[in-house]
Amino acid sequence: MENINTQYFKEKLEAELKILTEELQKIARINSSNPNDWEPIPAVMDTLESDKNEVSDRIEAFEENKALTKELEIRFFNIKNALKKIENGKYGICESTGEQIPIARLEANPAAKTCMEHLEK
Ligand SMILES: [Zn+2]
Repeated sequence: MENINTQYFKEKLEAELKILTEELQKIARINSSNPNDWEPIPAVMDTLESDKNEVSDRIEAFEENKALTKELEIRFFNIKNALKKIENGKYGICESTGEQIPIARLEANPAAKTCMEHLEK
């Protein structure tokens, strides 16, 4: 079994988590009743001043925020999960088979949950 330099991967994961958090904070906030959920910040609708085009632009922007939040949120919690595994000494173990994930795969994706061939399709 190869020795995984968890400190190295921890730093990589933390750096990525920081960037993701900053990206998420621009468009979303932590759900006040569920810390495991980011919710997109609703568009401000000032219907008195906005014309119809502007309202539809804002709705569209909000829909884009929702989609992006979802995508970033998945990566955010994957990374959180990987950091937790480092704490528990379970980092780099394939969730599908329990074998060690190849270092090259972790290098490419430090939050990988399984080896390439055991990816859930
Ligand atoms: Zn595997």
